[in-house]
Amino acid sequence: MSLPVEDTRPVADLGLRWKPGFSTLGPAFFTELRPTPLPDPYWVGHSDAVARELGLPSGWRESEGTLAALTGSLPVAGTRPIATVYSGHQFGVWAGQLGDGRAILLGETEGGLEVQLKGAGRTPYSRGGDGRAVLRSSIREFLCSEAMHGLGIPTTRALCVTGSDARVRREELESAAVVTRVAPSFVRFGHFEHFAANQREDELRALADYVIDRYYPECRTTARFNGNAYAAFLEAVSERTAALLAQWQAVGFCHGVMNTDNMSILGLTIDYGPFQFLDGFDPRHICNHSDTQGRYAFNQQPNVAYWNLFCLAQALLPLIGDQEIAVAALESYKTVFPNAFEDRMRAKLGLSAPAEDDRALIEGVLKLMAAEKVDHTIFWRRLSKHMADGNIEPVRDLFLDRAGFDAWMLTFSERHAQSQRAEAAELMLRSNPKFVLRNHLGQQAIEASQQKDHAGVATLLKLLETPFEEHPGADDYAGFPPDWASTIEISCSS
Ligand code: AMP
Ligand code: MG
Repeated sequence: MSLPVEDTRPVADLGLRWKPGFSTLGPAFFTELRPTPLPDPYWVGHSDAVARELGLPSGWRESEGTLAALTGSLPVAGTRPIATVYSGHQFGVWAGQLGDGRAILLGETEGGLEVQLKGAGRTPYSRGGDGRAVLRSSIREFLCSEAMHGLGIPTTRALCVTGSDARVRREELESAAVVTRVAPSFVRFGHFEHFAANQREDELRALADYVIDRYYPECRTTARFNGNAYAAFLEAVSERTAALLAQWQAVGFCHGVMNTDNMSILGLTIDYGPFQFLDGFDPRHICNHSDTQGRYAFNQQPNVAYWNLFCLAQALLPLIGDQEIAVAALESYKTVFPNAFEDRMRAKLGLSAPAEDDRALIEGVLKLMAAEKVDHTIFWRRLSKHMADGNIEPVRDLFLDRAGFDAWMLTFSERHAQSQRAEAAELMLRSNPKFVLRNHLGQQAIEASQQKDHAGVATLLKLLETPFEEHPGADDYAGFPPDWASTIEISCSS
Protein backbone atom coordinates (compact mmCIF):
# COMPACT_ATOMS: atom_id res chain seq x y z
CA MET A 1 0.00 0.00 0.00
CA SER A 2 1.35 3.41 -0.93
CA LEU A 3 0.51 6.69 0.72
CA PRO A 4 -1.17 9.43 -1.30
CA VAL A 5 1.80 11.74 -1.32
CA GLU A 6 1.89 14.41 -4.00
CA ASP A 7 2.23 12.53 -7.27
CA THR A 8 5.02 13.81 -9.50
CA ARG A 9 5.05 10.85 -11.88
CA PRO A 10 3.92 11.29 -15.47
CA VAL A 11 0.25 10.55 -15.92
CA ALA A 12 -1.72 8.59 -18.47
CA ASP A 13 -4.58 10.38 -20.08
CA LEU A 14 -7.15 7.76 -20.97
CA GLY A 15 -9.12 10.34 -22.90
CA LEU A 16 -11.86 10.23 -20.30
CA ARG A 17 -13.40 13.13 -18.42
CA TRP A 18 -13.96 12.59 -14.72
CA LYS A 19 -16.35 14.19 -12.28
CA PRO A 20 -16.60 14.19 -8.49
CA GLY A 21 -18.33 11.04 -7.30
CA PHE A 22 -18.19 8.77 -4.29
CA SER A 23 -15.24 10.67 -2.84
CA THR A 24 -17.44 13.74 -2.29
CA LEU A 25 -18.84 11.80 0.68
CA GLY A 26 -15.64 12.53 2.58
CA PRO A 27 -12.87 10.59 4.29
CA ALA A 28 -15.10 8.57 6.62
CA PHE A 29 -16.08 6.50 3.58
CA PHE A 30 -12.74 5.60 2.03
CA THR A 31 -8.98 5.84 2.05
CA GLU A 32 -7.11 7.62 -0.69
CA LEU A 33 -4.22 5.55 -2.00
CA ARG A 34 -2.25 4.43 -5.00
CA PRO A 35 -2.56 1.10 -6.74
CA THR A 36 0.47 -1.18 -6.48
CA PRO A 37 1.92 -1.68 -9.97
CA LEU A 38 1.43 -5.09 -11.52
CA PRO A 39 4.83 -5.80 -13.11
CA ASP A 40 5.28 -6.37 -16.85
CA PRO A 41 1.60 -6.40 -17.70
CA TYR A 42 0.00 -7.70 -20.89
CA TRP A 43 -3.48 -7.69 -22.37
CA VAL A 44 -5.59 -10.80 -21.83
CA GLY A 45 -9.02 -9.73 -22.97
CA HIS A 46 -11.02 -6.60 -23.55
CA SER A 47 -14.52 -5.48 -24.41
CA ASP A 48 -14.97 -2.92 -27.16
CA ALA A 49 -18.62 -2.56 -26.12
CA VAL A 50 -17.63 -1.39 -22.63
CA ALA A 51 -14.94 0.86 -24.10
CA ARG A 52 -17.63 2.51 -26.21
CA GLU A 53 -19.96 2.91 -23.24
CA LEU A 54 -17.18 4.58 -21.30
CA GLY A 55 -16.46 6.85 -24.22
CA LEU A 56 -12.86 5.70 -24.65
CA PRO A 57 -11.34 6.86 -27.93
CA SER A 58 -10.86 4.25 -30.65
CA GLY A 59 -7.45 2.63 -30.42
CA TRP A 60 -7.56 3.13 -26.65
CA ARG A 61 -5.52 0.02 -25.94
CA GLU A 62 -2.63 1.18 -28.11
CA SER A 63 -2.44 4.64 -26.67
CA GLU A 64 0.56 5.54 -24.56
CA GLY A 65 0.30 4.54 -20.94
CA THR A 66 -3.11 2.83 -21.03
CA LEU A 67 -1.82 -0.61 -20.09
CA ALA A 68 0.38 0.88 -17.37
CA ALA A 69 -2.51 2.96 -16.04
CA LEU A 70 -4.91 0.03 -15.88
CA THR A 71 -2.38 -2.05 -13.98
CA GLY A 72 -1.46 0.59 -11.45
CA SER A 73 1.90 1.78 -12.80
CA LEU A 74 0.78 5.20 -13.97
CA PRO A 75 -1.71 7.54 -12.36
CA VAL A 76 -4.70 8.36 -14.55
CA ALA A 77 -5.03 12.06 -15.27
CA GLY A 78 -7.94 13.58 -13.39
CA THR A 79 -8.41 10.78 -10.86
CA ARG A 80 -7.68 10.32 -7.14
CA PRO A 81 -7.94 6.59 -6.46
CA ILE A 82 -9.68 5.37 -3.31
CA ALA A 83 -10.62 2.15 -1.55
CA THR A 84 -14.02 2.27 0.17
CA VAL A 85 -14.99 0.83 3.52
CA TYR A 86 -17.90 -1.53 4.08
CA SER A 87 -18.87 -4.38 6.38
CA GLY A 88 -21.18 -7.31 5.92
CA HIS A 89 -22.73 -10.62 6.81
CA GLN A 90 -20.80 -13.54 5.37
CA PHE A 91 -22.49 -16.95 5.31
CA GLY A 92 -25.14 -15.63 7.67
CA VAL A 93 -22.70 -14.35 10.27
CA TRP A 94 -21.76 -10.75 11.01
CA ALA A 95 -18.21 -10.38 9.71
CA GLY A 96 -17.50 -6.82 10.83
CA GLN A 97 -15.42 -4.51 8.71
CA LEU A 98 -14.41 -5.69 5.25
CA GLY A 99 -14.02 -3.06 2.53
CA ASP A 100 -12.28 -2.89 -0.82
CA GLY A 101 -9.39 -5.17 0.02
CA ARG A 102 -8.12 -5.35 -3.53
CA ALA A 103 -10.40 -3.18 -5.65
CA ILE A 104 -9.31 0.39 -6.16
CA LEU A 105 -11.78 2.95 -7.47
CA LEU A 106 -10.17 5.31 -9.96
CA GLY A 107 -13.15 7.64 -10.11
CA GLU A 108 -16.37 8.37 -11.92
CA THR A 109 -16.56 9.46 -15.55
CA GLU A 110 -18.65 12.39 -16.67
CA GLY A 111 -20.98 9.81 -18.16
CA GLY A 112 -21.64 8.49 -14.65
CA LEU A 113 -19.63 5.27 -14.71
CA GLU A 114 -17.24 4.31 -11.95
CA VAL A 115 -14.03 2.59 -12.99
CA GLN A 116 -12.42 0.17 -10.58
CA LEU A 117 -9.22 -1.87 -10.76
CA LYS A 118 -9.79 -5.23 -9.06
CA GLY A 119 -6.54 -6.86 -8.01
CA ALA A 120 -4.56 -3.60 -7.92
CA GLY A 121 -2.81 -4.17 -4.62
CA ARG A 122 -3.24 -3.94 -0.89
CA THR A 123 -5.46 -1.40 0.82
CA PRO A 124 -6.20 -0.66 4.49
CA TYR A 125 -9.08 -3.16 4.10
CA SER A 126 -7.02 -6.10 2.84
CA ARG A 127 -7.12 -7.90 6.20
CA GLY A 128 -4.05 -10.02 5.57
CA GLY A 129 -4.85 -10.63 1.90
CA ASP A 130 -2.35 -9.75 -0.80
CA GLY A 131 -4.58 -7.31 -2.65
CA ARG A 132 -4.27 -9.35 -5.81
CA ALA A 133 -6.63 -11.34 -8.01
CA VAL A 134 -5.55 -14.43 -9.94
CA LEU A 135 -5.78 -14.69 -13.71
CA ARG A 136 -8.24 -17.60 -13.49
CA SER A 137 -10.83 -15.65 -11.50
CA SER A 138 -10.22 -12.45 -13.40
CA ILE A 139 -11.03 -14.12 -16.72
CA ARG A 140 -14.15 -15.66 -15.17
CA GLU A 141 -15.29 -12.29 -13.85
CA PHE A 142 -14.56 -10.52 -17.13
CA LEU A 143 -16.38 -13.07 -19.27
CA CYS A 144 -19.31 -13.48 -16.94
CA SER A 145 -19.90 -9.75 -16.55
CA GLU A 146 -20.21 -9.44 -20.30
CA ALA A 147 -22.18 -12.69 -20.58
CA MET A 148 -24.74 -11.42 -18.09
CA HIS A 149 -25.03 -8.17 -19.97
CA GLY A 150 -25.51 -10.12 -23.19
CA LEU A 151 -28.32 -12.03 -21.49
CA GLY A 152 -29.98 -8.75 -20.53
CA ILE A 153 -29.32 -9.27 -16.81
CA PRO A 154 -28.25 -6.25 -14.73
CA THR A 155 -24.57 -6.50 -13.86
CA THR A 156 -21.35 -4.64 -13.27
CA ARG A 157 -19.34 -4.63 -16.50
CA ALA A 158 -15.73 -5.36 -17.32
CA LEU A 159 -13.56 -3.37 -19.69
CA CYS A 160 -10.57 -5.67 -19.72
CA VAL A 161 -8.34 -8.22 -18.04
CA THR A 162 -4.66 -7.45 -17.84
CA GLY A 163 -2.25 -10.17 -16.74
CA SER A 164 1.27 -10.47 -15.44
CA ASP A 165 3.79 -13.20 -14.78
CA ALA A 166 3.96 -12.05 -11.16
CA ARG A 167 3.00 -14.96 -8.94
CA VAL A 168 0.52 -14.96 -6.09
CA ARG A 169 -0.10 -17.75 -3.65
CA ARG A 170 -3.50 -19.39 -3.37
CA GLU A 171 -3.77 -23.18 -2.97
CA GLU A 172 -0.87 -23.12 -5.39
CA LEU A 173 1.13 -20.40 -7.08
CA GLU A 174 -0.85 -18.65 -9.77
CA SER A 175 -0.35 -15.64 -12.00
CA ALA A 176 -1.86 -12.31 -11.00
CA ALA A 177 -4.19 -10.12 -13.02
CA VAL A 178 -6.34 -7.03 -12.82
CA VAL A 179 -9.94 -6.73 -14.02
CA THR A 180 -11.02 -3.22 -14.88
CA ARG A 181 -14.62 -3.13 -13.72
CA VAL A 182 -17.23 -0.56 -14.63
CA ALA A 183 -20.59 0.24 -13.04
CA PRO A 184 -22.71 3.27 -12.19
CA SER A 185 -21.92 2.44 -8.56
CA PHE A 186 -20.16 -0.29 -6.62
CA VAL A 187 -22.05 0.53 -3.39
CA ARG A 188 -23.16 -2.61 -1.57
CA PHE A 189 -25.66 -3.39 1.17
CA GLY A 190 -22.56 -3.74 3.34
CA HIS A 191 -21.70 -0.06 3.00
CA PHE A 192 -24.92 0.78 4.85
CA GLU A 193 -24.44 -1.99 7.38
CA HIS A 194 -21.00 -0.61 8.14
CA PHE A 195 -22.18 2.79 9.31
CA ALA A 196 -25.27 1.39 11.04
CA ALA A 197 -23.20 -1.13 13.01
CA ASN A 198 -20.83 1.62 14.08
CA GLN A 199 -23.74 3.86 15.07
CA ARG A 200 -22.55 6.53 12.71
CA GLU A 201 -25.96 7.90 11.84
CA ASP A 202 -24.71 11.05 10.13
CA GLU A 203 -22.60 9.03 7.72
CA LEU A 204 -25.41 6.53 7.24
CA ARG A 205 -27.73 9.36 6.26
CA ALA A 206 -25.14 10.99 4.01
CA LEU A 207 -24.63 7.70 2.19
CA ALA A 208 -28.35 7.07 1.80
CA ASP A 209 -28.89 10.62 0.55
CA TYR A 210 -26.03 10.24 -1.92
CA VAL A 211 -27.41 6.99 -3.34
CA ILE A 212 -31.02 8.21 -3.41
CA ASP A 213 -30.19 11.50 -5.10
CA ARG A 214 -28.10 9.85 -7.77
CA TYR A 215 -29.79 6.54 -8.44
CA TYR A 216 -33.25 6.64 -6.86
CA PRO A 217 -34.38 10.28 -7.19
CA GLU A 218 -38.02 9.18 -7.50
CA CYS A 219 -37.92 8.30 -3.77
CA ARG A 220 -37.75 11.99 -2.94
CA THR A 221 -41.16 12.73 -4.33
CA THR A 222 -42.93 9.50 -3.48
CA ALA A 223 -46.24 9.39 -1.70
CA ARG A 224 -45.44 5.90 -0.43
CA PHE A 225 -44.93 5.44 3.29
CA ASN A 226 -46.17 8.98 3.94
CA GLY A 227 -43.33 10.36 1.89
CA ASN A 228 -40.62 8.52 3.85
CA ALA A 229 -37.83 8.61 1.24
CA TYR A 230 -35.69 6.04 3.06
CA ALA A 231 -38.51 3.52 3.20
CA ALA A 232 -39.26 4.13 -0.47
CA PHE A 233 -35.56 3.60 -1.18
CA LEU A 234 -35.56 0.28 0.68
CA GLU A 235 -38.63 -0.80 -1.25
CA ALA A 236 -37.06 0.19 -4.56
CA VAL A 237 -33.84 -1.71 -3.78
CA SER A 238 -35.88 -4.70 -2.74
CA GLU A 239 -37.85 -4.63 -5.99
CA ARG A 240 -34.73 -4.33 -8.12
CA THR A 241 -33.20 -7.22 -6.20
CA ALA A 242 -36.35 -9.29 -6.71
CA ALA A 243 -36.25 -8.63 -10.44
CA LEU A 244 -32.56 -9.58 -10.54
CA LEU A 245 -33.16 -12.83 -8.68
CA ALA A 246 -35.98 -13.71 -11.07
CA GLN A 247 -33.51 -13.37 -13.93
CA TRP A 248 -30.89 -15.49 -12.21
CA GLN A 249 -33.35 -18.25 -11.45
CA ALA A 250 -34.78 -18.26 -14.95
CA VAL A 251 -31.42 -18.50 -16.69
CA GLY A 252 -29.96 -20.98 -14.18
CA PHE A 253 -27.31 -18.72 -12.69
CA CYS A 254 -25.87 -19.61 -9.31
CA HIS A 255 -23.94 -16.72 -7.71
CA GLY A 256 -22.18 -18.75 -5.06
CA VAL A 257 -21.38 -16.09 -2.43
CA MET A 258 -24.45 -14.02 -1.70
CA ASN A 259 -22.96 -12.32 1.33
CA THR A 260 -24.41 -8.87 2.06
CA ASP A 261 -21.14 -7.28 0.97
CA ASN A 262 -21.67 -8.88 -2.43
CA MET A 263 -25.15 -7.37 -2.91
CA SER A 264 -25.34 -4.30 -5.12
CA ILE A 265 -27.49 -1.40 -3.96
CA LEU A 266 -28.46 -0.97 -7.62
CA GLY A 267 -29.64 -4.55 -8.02
CA LEU A 268 -26.70 -5.50 -10.24
CA THR A 269 -24.96 -8.85 -10.29
CA ILE A 270 -21.67 -8.06 -8.55
CA ASP A 271 -18.50 -9.83 -7.40
CA TYR A 272 -18.19 -12.86 -9.60
CA GLY A 273 -16.45 -15.57 -7.60
CA PRO A 274 -17.44 -19.23 -7.59
CA PHE A 275 -20.54 -18.60 -9.76
CA GLN A 276 -21.89 -21.20 -12.16
CA PHE A 277 -24.46 -21.54 -14.87
CA LEU A 278 -26.23 -24.81 -14.22
CA ASP A 279 -25.40 -27.68 -16.54
CA GLY A 280 -27.96 -30.28 -15.50
CA PHE A 281 -30.96 -28.72 -13.76
CA ASP A 282 -30.48 -29.50 -10.08
CA PRO A 283 -32.35 -27.03 -7.86
CA ARG A 284 -30.13 -27.94 -4.91
CA HIS A 285 -26.90 -27.40 -6.79
CA ILE A 286 -24.09 -25.79 -4.75
CA CYS A 287 -21.53 -24.14 -7.01
CA ASN A 288 -19.17 -22.89 -4.29
CA HIS A 289 -16.86 -25.62 -3.04
CA SER A 290 -16.38 -23.65 0.21
CA ASP A 291 -20.16 -23.59 0.90
CA THR A 292 -20.33 -26.85 2.80
CA GLN A 293 -23.82 -26.18 4.23
CA GLY A 294 -25.36 -25.23 0.90
CA ARG A 295 -26.43 -21.83 2.20
CA TYR A 296 -26.11 -20.44 -1.32
CA ALA A 297 -27.49 -23.44 -3.22
CA PHE A 298 -29.31 -22.49 -6.42
CA ASN A 299 -32.82 -22.84 -5.02
CA GLN A 300 -31.92 -20.90 -1.86
CA GLN A 301 -30.97 -17.73 -3.73
CA PRO A 302 -34.35 -15.95 -3.68
CA ASN A 303 -34.69 -16.50 0.07
CA VAL A 304 -31.12 -15.46 0.74
CA ALA A 305 -31.67 -12.24 -1.19
CA TYR A 306 -34.65 -11.54 1.03
CA TRP A 307 -32.57 -12.29 4.13
CA ASN A 308 -29.94 -9.87 2.84
CA LEU A 309 -32.59 -7.22 2.24
CA PHE A 310 -33.66 -7.72 5.83
CA CYS A 311 -30.10 -6.86 6.90
CA LEU A 312 -30.29 -3.76 4.75
CA ALA A 313 -33.62 -2.85 6.35
CA GLN A 314 -32.06 -3.16 9.78
CA ALA A 315 -29.21 -0.92 8.71
CA LEU A 316 -31.63 1.69 7.36
CA LEU A 317 -33.90 1.54 10.39
CA PRO A 318 -32.41 4.62 12.11
CA LEU A 319 -33.27 6.62 8.99
CA ILE A 320 -36.68 5.07 8.35
CA GLY A 321 -37.53 5.58 11.99
CA ASP A 322 -40.25 2.96 12.33
CA GLN A 323 -39.79 -0.79 12.33
CA GLU A 324 -43.23 -1.49 10.92
CA ILE A 325 -42.60 0.77 7.97
CA ALA A 326 -39.23 -0.87 7.35
CA VAL A 327 -40.83 -4.31 7.33
CA ALA A 328 -43.62 -3.04 5.07
CA ALA A 329 -41.01 -1.73 2.63
CA LEU A 330 -39.72 -5.29 2.18
CA GLU A 331 -43.17 -6.74 1.65
CA SER A 332 -43.31 -6.26 -2.10
CA TYR A 333 -40.35 -8.61 -2.58
CA LYS A 334 -42.76 -11.46 -1.90
CA THR A 335 -44.90 -10.56 -4.90
CA VAL A 336 -42.37 -8.94 -7.22
CA PHE A 337 -40.06 -11.95 -7.19
CA PRO A 338 -42.64 -14.64 -8.06
CA ASN A 339 -44.35 -12.39 -10.60
CA ALA A 340 -41.09 -11.48 -12.29
CA PHE A 341 -40.01 -15.11 -12.24
CA GLU A 342 -43.28 -16.20 -13.83
CA ASP A 343 -42.90 -13.50 -16.47
CA ARG A 344 -39.44 -14.77 -17.34
CA MET A 345 -40.59 -18.36 -17.45
CA ARG A 346 -43.57 -17.47 -19.60
CA ALA A 347 -41.21 -15.87 -22.09
CA LYS A 348 -39.05 -19.00 -22.03
CA LEU A 349 -42.20 -20.98 -22.81
CA GLY A 350 -43.10 -18.62 -25.64
CA LEU A 351 -46.22 -17.33 -23.92
CA SER A 352 -46.86 -13.66 -24.43
CA ALA A 353 -49.83 -13.32 -22.09
CA PRO A 354 -50.54 -14.82 -18.67
CA ALA A 355 -53.15 -17.49 -18.00
CA GLU A 356 -54.42 -19.17 -14.88
CA ASP A 357 -52.56 -22.47 -15.10
CA ASP A 358 -49.15 -21.00 -15.92
CA ARG A 359 -47.68 -21.75 -12.52
CA ALA A 360 -48.58 -25.43 -12.85
CA LEU A 361 -47.11 -25.54 -16.34
CA ILE A 362 -43.85 -23.98 -15.12
CA GLU A 363 -43.60 -26.13 -12.02
CA GLY A 364 -44.41 -29.19 -14.09
CA VAL A 365 -41.50 -28.79 -16.46
CA LEU A 366 -39.04 -27.82 -13.73
CA LYS A 367 -39.99 -30.91 -11.77
CA LEU A 368 -39.45 -33.16 -14.79
CA MET A 369 -36.10 -31.56 -15.49
CA ALA A 370 -34.98 -31.80 -11.87
CA ALA A 371 -35.89 -35.48 -11.65
CA GLU A 372 -33.35 -36.30 -14.36
CA LYS A 373 -31.05 -33.30 -14.06
CA VAL A 374 -31.79 -32.46 -17.67
CA ASP A 375 -29.39 -29.94 -19.15
CA HIS A 376 -30.95 -26.56 -18.47
CA THR A 377 -29.67 -24.47 -21.37
CA ILE A 378 -29.97 -27.23 -23.95
CA PHE A 379 -33.53 -28.11 -22.92
CA TRP A 380 -34.81 -24.57 -23.29
CA ARG A 381 -33.02 -23.97 -26.55
CA ARG A 382 -34.26 -27.23 -28.04
CA LEU A 383 -37.80 -26.45 -26.92
CA SER A 384 -37.49 -23.09 -28.68
CA LYS A 385 -36.24 -24.78 -31.85
CA HIS A 386 -39.10 -27.20 -31.71
CA MET A 387 -41.50 -24.28 -31.68
CA ALA A 388 -39.82 -23.06 -34.86
CA ASP A 389 -39.53 -26.35 -36.79
CA GLY A 390 -42.12 -28.63 -35.17
CA ASN A 391 -39.58 -31.40 -34.44
CA ILE A 392 -40.14 -32.63 -30.89
CA GLU A 393 -37.68 -35.56 -30.89
CA PRO A 394 -34.55 -33.57 -29.88
CA VAL A 395 -36.43 -32.32 -26.82
CA ARG A 396 -38.03 -35.65 -26.00
CA ASP A 397 -34.65 -37.37 -26.26
CA LEU A 398 -33.47 -35.42 -23.25
CA PHE A 399 -35.84 -37.36 -20.97
CA LEU A 400 -35.86 -40.97 -19.85
CA ASP A 401 -39.36 -40.47 -18.47
CA ARG A 402 -40.96 -40.17 -21.91
CA ALA A 403 -44.48 -40.61 -20.55
CA GLY A 404 -43.97 -37.80 -18.06
CA PHE A 405 -42.55 -35.57 -20.74
CA ASP A 406 -45.34 -36.39 -23.23
CA ALA A 407 -47.98 -35.54 -20.62
CA TRP A 408 -46.38 -32.17 -19.93
CA MET A 409 -45.91 -31.55 -23.66
CA LEU A 410 -49.61 -32.15 -24.22
CA THR A 411 -50.52 -29.44 -21.72
CA PHE A 412 -47.90 -27.15 -23.23
CA SER A 413 -49.26 -27.68 -26.75
CA GLU A 414 -52.82 -27.09 -25.58
CA ARG A 415 -51.73 -23.86 -23.94
CA HIS A 416 -50.29 -22.84 -27.30
CA ALA A 417 -53.40 -23.85 -29.27
CA GLN A 418 -54.19 -20.22 -30.08
CA SER A 419 -50.57 -19.11 -30.49
CA GLN A 420 -48.91 -17.94 -33.67
CA ARG A 421 -46.09 -20.48 -33.76
CA ALA A 422 -43.64 -18.17 -35.49
CA GLU A 423 -44.18 -15.45 -32.93
CA ALA A 424 -43.89 -17.87 -30.05
CA ALA A 425 -40.70 -19.33 -31.52
CA GLU A 426 -39.24 -15.88 -31.92
CA LEU A 427 -40.01 -15.01 -28.29
CA MET A 428 -38.46 -18.28 -27.11
CA LEU A 429 -35.32 -17.90 -29.19
CA ARG A 430 -34.66 -14.50 -27.66
CA SER A 431 -35.50 -15.73 -24.13
CA ASN A 432 -33.50 -18.97 -24.14
CA PRO A 433 -29.80 -18.43 -24.85
CA LYS A 434 -27.81 -20.83 -26.98
CA PHE A 435 -24.60 -19.89 -25.16
CA VAL A 436 -23.90 -19.50 -21.46
CA LEU A 437 -20.53 -19.36 -19.69
CA ARG A 438 -20.39 -22.95 -18.55
CA ASN A 439 -17.57 -23.79 -16.16
CA HIS A 440 -15.76 -26.01 -18.62
CA LEU A 441 -15.80 -23.34 -21.35
CA GLY A 442 -14.31 -20.80 -18.98
CA GLN A 443 -11.77 -23.39 -17.82
CA GLN A 444 -10.57 -24.13 -21.36
CA ALA A 445 -10.09 -20.44 -22.09
CA ILE A 446 -8.28 -19.97 -18.77
CA GLU A 447 -5.89 -22.86 -19.34
CA ALA A 448 -4.96 -21.52 -22.78
CA SER A 449 -4.50 -18.03 -21.36
CA GLN A 450 -2.22 -19.38 -18.68
CA GLN A 451 -0.07 -20.58 -21.61
CA LYS A 452 -0.27 -17.07 -23.15
CA ASP A 453 -2.86 -17.98 -25.77
CA HIS A 454 -5.67 -15.50 -25.19
CA ALA A 455 -7.66 -16.22 -28.36
CA GLY A 456 -10.10 -18.43 -26.46
CA VAL A 457 -11.11 -15.54 -24.21
CA ALA A 458 -11.90 -13.39 -27.23
CA THR A 459 -13.85 -16.19 -28.92
CA LEU A 460 -15.97 -16.83 -25.86
CA LEU A 461 -16.59 -13.13 -25.35
CA LYS A 462 -17.91 -12.82 -28.89
CA LEU A 463 -20.41 -15.65 -28.40
CA LEU A 464 -21.49 -14.52 -24.95
CA GLU A 465 -22.08 -10.94 -26.01
CA THR A 466 -24.89 -12.12 -28.28
CA PRO A 467 -25.90 -15.44 -26.72
CA PHE A 468 -29.30 -15.66 -28.39
CA GLU A 469 -27.83 -15.65 -31.88
CA GLU A 470 -27.00 -18.88 -33.71
CA HIS A 471 -23.32 -18.19 -34.44
CA PRO A 472 -22.94 -20.85 -37.16
CA GLY A 473 -19.86 -22.99 -36.62
CA ALA A 474 -19.82 -22.48 -32.86
CA ASP A 475 -21.99 -25.46 -31.89
CA ASP A 476 -19.13 -26.94 -29.86
CA TYR A 477 -19.67 -24.13 -27.38
CA ALA A 478 -23.37 -24.95 -27.07
CA GLY A 479 -23.10 -28.69 -26.42
CA PHE A 480 -23.31 -30.83 -23.32
CA PRO A 481 -20.50 -30.40 -20.83
CA PRO A 482 -17.77 -33.06 -20.97
CA ASP A 483 -17.57 -35.53 -18.09
CA TRP A 484 -14.62 -33.70 -16.54
CA ALA A 485 -16.77 -30.57 -16.11
CA SER A 486 -18.35 -32.06 -13.00
CA THR A 487 -14.92 -32.39 -11.39
CA ILE A 488 -14.15 -28.66 -11.61
CA GLU A 489 -14.07 -27.29 -8.08
CA ILE A 490 -14.49 -23.57 -7.68
CA SER A 491 -14.11 -22.10 -4.21
CA CYS A 492 -13.96 -18.64 -2.67
CA SER A 493 -10.22 -18.65 -3.35
CA SER A 494 -9.67 -16.11 -6.08
P1 AMP B 1 -15.10 -11.69 -1.77
O1 AMP B 1 -15.46 -12.99 -1.14
O2 AMP B 1 -14.21 -11.82 -2.98
O3 AMP B 1 -16.29 -10.85 -2.07
O4 AMP B 1 -14.19 -10.89 -0.72
C1 AMP B 1 -14.58 -10.65 0.61
C2 AMP B 1 -13.66 -9.63 1.23
O5 AMP B 1 -12.31 -10.08 1.21
C3 AMP B 1 -13.64 -8.27 0.54
O6 AMP B 1 -13.46 -7.29 1.52
C4 AMP B 1 -12.43 -8.38 -0.35
O7 AMP B 1 -11.89 -7.12 -0.68
C5 AMP B 1 -11.48 -9.18 0.51
N1 AMP B 1 -10.50 -9.93 -0.27
C6 AMP B 1 -10.70 -11.05 -1.00
N2 AMP B 1 -9.55 -11.47 -1.57
C7 AMP B 1 -8.59 -10.60 -1.19
C8 AMP B 1 -7.18 -10.48 -1.45
N3 AMP B 1 -6.54 -11.36 -2.20
N4 AMP B 1 -6.53 -9.44 -0.88
C9 AMP B 1 -7.17 -8.55 -0.11
N5 AMP B 1 -8.48 -8.60 0.17
C10 AMP B 1 -9.19 -9.61 -0.36
MG1 MG C 1 -16.91 -9.21 -2.47
